[in-house]
Amino acid sequence: VTGMFNHAPREYVCPFCLVAKGIIRESVHSRDSDIVARNSAAMALIASHWRPRNPGHVIVAPIAHYENLYDLPDEIGAAIFSLSRRIAIAMKNAYRCDGISTRQHNEPAGYQDVWHYHLHVFPRFAGDELYLDDNPNRLTRVEEREPYAAELRAALGAEQ
Ligand SMILES: [Zn+2]
Repeated sequence: VTGMFNHAPREYVCPFCLVAKGIIRESVHSRDSDIVARNSAAMALIASHWRPRNPGHVIVAPIAHYENLYDLPDEIGAAIFSLSRRIAIAMKNAYRCDGISTRQHNEPAGYQDVWHYHLHVFPRFAGDELYLDDNPNRLTRVEEREPYAAELRAALGAEQ
């Protein structure tokens, strides 16, 4: 699905579409093993790149390909909202974080760097400086993400 104000190059290999299909590529950091939950239209996975003091943050994305907020149908947006809320509560229980922040970027000027809509859900801790751009994002290893995924899955499984 392509829409207005799209920036993906013509032959774009979309990492989140690959993850949704369980396809592993050397160039793609996220894996389907990072997925902690799905619903009818959205998936939640541990992010590959972490902020320095917000380990194990989660990306919620539509399973189908939509580049940005402008293109996203309302019903898919509702599925993303619903999953992000479940993730936020699971993070509170699993990570014992002080708070939660969500961020979502559109177009290069909006800091978007993957051309498939995604919403970041961050665990927040007092003094974590999430919004301080001087702190670079760090690429994590799959094995490093696994315990966070396991904790979130357990918390999601315990909810009712
Ligand atoms: Zn995609």
